[in-house]
Amino acid sequence: MSKKEILDAIASEIVVCTKCRLHKSRTNAVPGDGDPNGKIMLVGEGPGRSEDVQGKPFVGAAGKFLNSLLDEADLPREGVYICNIVRCRPPNNRDPLPDEIETCTPYLNRQIVAIQPSFIVTLGKHSTDYLFSRAKLSFVGITNVRGRFFEIDLLNLKTTVFPTFHPAAGLYNPEYKKQLIRDFQLFGHELKKGHRRNYR
Ligand code: URA
Repeated sequence: MSKKEILDAIASEIVVCTKCRLHKSRTNAVPGDGDPNGKIMLVGEGPGRSEDVQGKPFVGAAGKFLNSLLDEADLPREGVYICNIVRCRPPNNRDPLPDEIETCTPYLNRQIVAIQPSFIVTLGKHSTDYLFSRAKLSFVGITNVRGRFFEIDLLNLKTTVFPTFHPAAGLYNPEYKKQLIRDFQLFGHELKKGHRRNYR
């Protein structure tokens, strides 16, 4: 099976998933989107209103800002794979609850195993906390770990996690916006070096 076929199979399970309470209030589940053969995954928090309507990740205001951040890293959006820690919109965009994260993350694990990314950019505290705990790293808060590269062993894969703030944070806080731009510029710079090391 190709990576695309595996991801399509996972997506077909996600769109009919009823494993946690979030399915009750969703319009559409949001499995993820992008290049199955890309070497970079971005993991956000959960769908917002626009994503719930369209069934695609990061298509609302935070998504527009994310597109501009990808430009800062000189990365075409079609070349990366974007998904979330939970796949159904939490009511009123509240934080996902621990049991919702626990129920939903097997889908993320399977997507990571299928894609075998060289880099995982975690957007915000929830995805960072989850991947750090899977890798048995202690998570000491997003402001302490953002903008740094962490080489981790995860699901029998050696990969590099690069945490940063959630793009939505940059929409209301100019300081976070500045740091997000700086983080994506740094990430793009590292990728260019990584290119020479055959990361992609
Ligand atoms: N915020 C997220 O975390 N994910 C989305 O897909 C959209 C907004």
